[in-house]
Amino acid sequence: MDRRVRVRFAPSPTGPLHIGGVRTALYNYLFANKHGGDFLIRIEDTDQTRFVPGAEEYIINSLKWLGIEAVEGIGFGDGPHAPYRQSERKPLYKQYVLQLIEAGHAYYAFDTAEELESMRERLKASNVDAKYDAITRGTMKNSLTLSEDEVKRRLESEEAYVVRFKLPRKEEVKFHDEIRGWVSFNTNQMDDKVLFKSDGMPTYHLANVVDDFLMQITHVIRGEEWLPSAPLHVLLYRAFGWENVMPAFAHLPLLLKPEGNGKLSKRDGDRLGFPVFPMNWNDPSSGELSSGYREAGYLPEAVVNLLALLGWNPGTTQELFTLEELVQAFSLDRVSKSGAKFDQNKAKWFNQQYVRKMSDEMLVPYLEKALAENGLDKQFDQAFLLQTCKLVKEKISFTKELWDYSRYFFVAPDTYDEQVVKKRWNDKIPALLSDLVYGIKAIDNYNHQSVEAAYQSALEKNGIAGKDFLQLFRVILTGVAGGPPLFEIAELIGKDNTLQRIEQAKSTLQNQA
Ligand code: GLU
Repeated sequence: MDRRVRVRFAPSPTGPLHIGGVRTALYNYLFANKHGGDFLIRIEDTDQTRFVPGAEEYIINSLKWLGIEAVEGIGFGDGPHAPYRQSERKPLYKQYVLQLIEAGHAYYAFDTAEELESMRERLKASNVDAKYDAITRGTMKNSLTLSEDEVKRRLESEEAYVVRFKLPRKEEVKFHDEIRGWVSFNTNQMDDKVLFKSDGMPTYHLANVVDDFLMQITHVIRGEEWLPSAPLHVLLYRAFGWENVMPAFAHLPLLLKPEGNGKLSKRDGDRLGFPVFPMNWNDPSSGELSSGYREAGYLPEAVVNLLALLGWNPGTTQELFTLEELVQAFSLDRVSKSGAKFDQNKAKWFNQQYVRKMSDEMLVPYLEKALAENGLDKQFDQAFLLQTCKLVKEKISFTKELWDYSRYFFVAPDTYDEQVVKKRWNDKIPALLSDLVYGIKAIDNYNHQSVEAAYQSALEKNGIAGKDFLQLFRVILTGVAGGPPLFEIAELIGKDNTLQRIEQAKSTLQNQA
């Protein structure tokens, strides 16, 4: 019988969630929903030395902001497998360690830090790979070399120990990865990993496998950095006798630097000016701020869309997907094996597409906020604000750019694009501007067509070609060289403002010339 699909995102709360981690969560979410299964969040906090306050909350809030919702687990309400935080599951792991020890798959090791160090030194000196494994374990202090009584005595006197996995010697461990195909590791490349410590805490490997088993996980979808751990996990499933319910593995490709060489890091973001985290993060120990997509002005839909396509492709040319469309289109066999280069221009492009999809009504509050921030708290006519948003929408990539592009709808320019002025201003212009003022003043029904007609007749009268003046006229009305259709701007700012701006530019630029 096919099992119900159950996947998990299992972050460790060691700092802010990198966008690579967000992508892992997203792919898990898409996969679960595509198959009508469950997506859960488990917090893997067994390594208390790496615990960072606030990190768990940050991770959950980031996923919520992006709409990557789980059905069970931390942040989304407990389900049948609570608790979902490994530190709170601590009492549960010991029985599984004992099971492995009894079956001969794991053993107690009492070696001190100094003893481990001297083993490493000794092996290094003879040019052998220095690791605790099938060869060296016979020379160390563990329950395989010490007598039963001695082991008992040490355990009873509460001596510190670890439990190590007893790796089979020189065995080929083969497993099928949903993205990479058959993968194989030889146990002689691996070491007897620590599974459990005498303080009662399991390590990542043990807790991860036990919890995936208990939580009935069917697919482990995680980053490529965990691929080297997978053979150990496979061996653990075998050792427990859980092979028939072992999850399928899918190791996702890395997110690479824009140049393609190496993993995308916070430093790349700082260097090239884009965030690598979903939201701002204040490091509690250093106070350092890492910038996030949310605060940089990205819309959550755009971030989801751009991350989905970093490592997965739909097999068509479609680039814009809602979350629901992604669920429908997603499949692991379209996830690529090779790393995905991050492209900051493409990231902006996605945001621009989603800003364009916003209705003019949705943009108005952003504009109102910008007006208030810039001291223009007078009430503007809603129709005027709507029309402004409509005109500048195509020009912006972020809602916070609304103000930069629409400033001149509200205030007359105080500077004029120098290059345009230098290129287009000449001594015929003042007369042209006077005729233009005269023509506009005479308009009864003021709109973009009538302004354009007045403009044309002033040009003709002065023998000046439109191409030589249009850009200067734009700079006169707006101060800047580019923007939405000019006569529509003139219509929107109204007859009085248009006239005032022409007069103002005429006197300012005439004096400068
Ligand atoms: N706790 C691991 C992490 O921080 C989870 C790896 C896995 O999904 O198995 O990424």
